[in-house]
Amino acid sequence: MPYIVTLTGGIGSGKTAVSDLLGGHGAAVVDTDVIARALTAPGGAAMPALSAAFGDQVAAADGGLDRARMRALAFNDPGARRRLEAILHPMIRAEAARQVNAATAAYVVLVVPLLVESDAYRSLTDRTLVVDCPESVQIERTMRRSGLDRGEVERILASQSSRAQRLALADDVIVNDADLATLAAAVARLHQSYLQAASAKASRASRAG
Ligand code: ATP
Repeated sequence: MPYIVTLTGGIGSGKTAVSDLLGGHGAAVVDTDVIARALTAPGGAAMPALSAAFGDQVAAADGGLDRARMRALAFNDPGARRRLEAILHPMIRAEAARQVNAATAAYVVLVVPLLVESDAYRSLTDRTLVVDCPESVQIERTMRRSGLDRGEVERILASQSSRAQRLALADDVIVNDADLATLAAAVARLHQSYLQAASAKASRASRAG
């Protein structure tokens, strides 16, 4: 099993920016959001089960998940949200584990936005990295990027775990409240420490094996 850095953070905190930078240094990136989108794209492996559970109303004309409709269903009905998670989460975990095991890079960055809520990933994790910034910054970035209005972004933020809950899991914290050059410098330092830790894990494993 490669050395695994699990990366989490709230919406708009900069998870993708950090994982892109670490990927640029040569880490393998396994992103559970990317996996979830592939599973629910047209022809995605989760679509038959989702249509069976929620009816064809959750499929858009192209056969992929109608995200706005599913989001509305899940927000307004906790039972629907649990059923959605019961279908998707095991499929996401299985695909993430497959990608982690197939990775050949020095270490893997496993991006799990909802790490606080997902115990299953913690057992895979060697090191937990939290990208953190003030909620006001998260809201501004997410509005700018997604086109959602402030109310919608605030509702998503309120439905996620709190900053304090995420920070309680952190071995490393990147504070992403400045510009992208500042972020890149912090990421470069962390990359060096992950390379060292990954190589120490690999030598332990080869001595044991
Ligand atoms: P989500 O939870 O919505 O997937 P995320 O945590 O992956 O978001 P990013 O997509 O990395 O966050 O960042 C959100 C937006 O803010 C992007 O448009 C990104 O380019 C921008 N951004 C991130 N960090 C910075 C920064 N330090 N300075 C300026 N813009 C930034």
